[in-house]
Amino acid sequence: MKFDPASKIQNLRHFGEFGDVNPSVCDSATFTFMQAKTMLETFQGEAEGCFLYSRHWNPSNKYLADAMAAMEGTEAAWVTGSGMGAITSAILHLVNSGDHIVSSMTTYGGTFAFLANYLKKFNVQVSFVDISDLKAVEEAVRPETKLIYTETMTNPLLQISDIPGLAAIANKHNVKLVVDNTFTPMIASPALLGAHVVVYSLTKFVNGKNDCVAGAICADVDFINSLIDVNNGTAMLLGPVLDPFRSSSILKNIHTLHIRMKQHSYNAAYLAERFNAAGIPTVYPGLTNHKGHKLMKSMMNPQFGFGGMLTIDLKTSEKASALMEDMERNDVGYLAVSLGYFKTLFSNSGKSTSSEVPEEVQREMGLSDGLVRYSVGLDNDIEHSWSKIEGSLRKIGVLK
Ligand SMILES: *Cc1c(COP(=O)(O)O)cnc(C)c1O
Repeated sequence: MKFDPASKIQNLRHFGEFGDVNPSVCDSATFTFMQAKTMLETFQGEAEGCFLYSRHWNPSNKYLADAMAAMEGTEAAWVTGSGMGAITSAILHLVNSGDHIVSSMTTYGGTFAFLANYLKKFNVQVSFVDISDLKAVEEAVRPETKLIYTETMTNPLLQISDIPGLAAIANKHNVKLVVDNTFTPMIASPALLGAHVVVYSLTKFVNGKNDCVAGAICADVDFINSLIDVNNGTAMLLGPVLDPFRSSSILKNIHTLHIRMKQHSYNAAYLAERFNAAGIPTVYPGLTNHKGHKLMKSMMNPQFGFGGMLTIDLKTSEKASALMEDMERNDVGYLAVSLGYFKTLFSNSGKSTSSEVPEEVQREMGLSDGLVRYSVGLDNDIEHSWSKIEGSLRKIGVLK
């Protein structure tokens, strides 16, 4: 059976109160009741379709959450004010003081800092492992382990996580598998491959406009309800809620995500082949020389390609800076962190989005000083974009 996340979103029917094709923005923090009894039932989570207070649920947030759940094939979802809001809430909800986490060594820098530094406050231990080594993952599991954490396609090294393999380890040891799918929306559906919780930064491809930060947690109904429980729910009590105006705008953007992912993938594959053919060390999961190429193929939903992210290695940060500055001048795109935008964005990972990772750990994970990460944009003429990049590579002496 082939899963089609784009059709799942397309099939949603969300009308506004006047038949508006885009549901009305629910611009209210609180909600009134005609009967006091219904309010009490809502507090107890028993009144279907009733809203209480917007830190718990807001109808506009519910529409976006429903779209995320449809896309991921999960029973439910909850949307947050940032990707970090989603990641930290999901993790904190699963651990108690004294517990242990097994995490991929390569993750988003903020996630790494949270796991490596911040969780110490709560006496939660984290073992960082090479996530592509399933034996190392299983050996790192302890009696106190509560979750295994990874990204479908890891940042910034673009390693591919074996979600079914990790899910088997998680199930065997009765721990949760939490997967960040930010780099690969629609391309991969981690929950259908066995992940228990899927987290997202919607800031990136899902919204795709670089006009806000937002996040989501997708899981079964029990987990989502427990997250927003008024007495013990991490999301309800820490309050990383998304603004309903933003939910409404992200909901419109998610309806074009499938078209954008196809173009991001087409353009990234084109550039990856060109870099590779020019003899520059290139990492792109769509290249047959990528270690995770076959694994990625086995996990992918059809049609959406291998994604918009690729890296090249120029060995030194000086060369990386020179290239990025020249590409900025040539309008290849922007020297900026973040990803999933309609313009190409590039940055030197070790000195930017992974600068939270200590240098010795960067070495250990194989992160080169000269790594340039591209989030390839929606260019209509990618051949022309390549000719500009080629010009920059010549100018800095990487190509003859
Ligand atoms: C950006 C990013 C995050 C953090 O999301 P924010 O929306 O910036 O809080 C988490 N994971 C990955 C893979 C990211 O790229």
